[in-house]
Amino acid sequence: MIQTKAYAAQNETTPLAPWTFERREVGPHDVQFDIQFCGVCHSDLHQVRNDWFPGIFPMVPGHEIVGRVVKVGDHVKNFKVGDLAGTGCIVDSCRVCENCKQDLEQYCLNGNSQTYNGLEQDKKTPTYGGYSNTIVVNEDFVLHVSDKLDLAGTAPLLCAGITTYSPLRHWKVGKGHKLAVLGLGGLGHMAVKFGVAFGAEVTVLSTSPKKEADAKKLGAHHFLVTTDAAQVKAAANSFDFILDTVSAEHDFNMYLSLLRVNGVHICVGVPPKPAEIAAFSLIGGRRSLAGSGIGSIAETQEMLDFCAEHNIVSDIELIDIKDIQASYDRMEKGDVRYRFVIDMATL
Ligand code: NAP
Ligand code: ZN
Ligand code: ZN
Repeated sequence: MIQTKAYAAQNETTPLAPWTFERREVGPHDVQFDIQFCGVCHSDLHQVRNDWFPGIFPMVPGHEIVGRVVKVGDHVKNFKVGDLAGTGCIVDSCRVCENCKQDLEQYCLNGNSQTYNGLEQDKKTPTYGGYSNTIVVNEDFVLHVSDKLDLAGTAPLLCAGITTYSPLRHWKVGKGHKLAVLGLGGLGHMAVKFGVAFGAEVTVLSTSPKKEADAKKLGAHHFLVTTDAAQVKAAANSFDFILDTVSAEHDFNMYLSLLRVNGVHICVGVPPKPAEIAAFSLIGGRRSLAGSGIGSIAETQEMLDFCAEHNIVSDIELIDIKDIQASYDRMEKGDVRYRFVIDMATL
């Protein structure tokens, strides 16, 4: 077994603290890599607090993981010691269901293995995430990371990046489309970068007026403060797509009114409580309400390659792991510019 250092939550009320545990030995199809950076996703905060469902504790969060390969199993074909590697939100899936066979393992019908707060495919071994010094993952769920990009800024691509890239590609968002990005946080700022790269006219819908200059620097064409009723009214019936990255309760009906005919509101944010949607909000304008979850491994590699080609990384604030709790507090207040990334050398 491999002794592993980590930060873990022992239950849903205690702050994260140092913890050690054992990872499995490197199997024939496994890659072990030492973690250099791990992004801090709002999903980490939701899960350590049991916002969505009762979690598996102790919990080591973290699913935006990058580092360098230190060991590979005998049958590993695509990685060698010294390579840069990454892992996102899933570390395995059944591989035989209809969705897995179509490169949609994020929607595995038999339950994929989440990188943490989940179970391996044996359905009994808990998984532990990237707030740790090393990780062992089946090579089919390890991504190649370019050495052309800043490594710390690459970590958030593994979740915030793919979660926004995938729906924009699925709905073929691009030239001629008006895209609204709702919420300018970790996911939102990546959505702006991809929306602009794909040629869409991008508007940020934000509750934080002080983020306007940043939004423009990220490439957004317009900025709308959603707490200003006049600005909201002026934008009625104007967007083809809204990519909703909001982590807290919000008024879907208000945002739906901003879509033009056939417009699509795509949920990627996961507020803890269900929302109330009036049928009229959809009927008027034949609007759709849709959702999207991360992306497949193949699409994650495609996204990483796209980012390497177009020099896209996340705008980050590098933190010491002992400041994790403070960064959660700031994230909760919407005060994130635009992703906290843990420097794992501080562990
Ligand atoms: P984040 O960095 O905290 O950003 C969320 C942003 O939402 C905030 O910065 C804020 O932006 C806005 N916001 C917060 N509270 C709001 C409220 N009450 N009303 C309106 N806007 C509000 O979080 P993140 O890491 O980007 O994650 C966002 C959500 O996506 C989380 O729920 C996370 O769990 C989920 N997620 C889903 C997937 C998936 O596969 N679908 C993957 C990753 C994450 P402004 O200051 O601009 O208003
Ligand atoms: Zn995430
Ligand atoms: Zn499956």
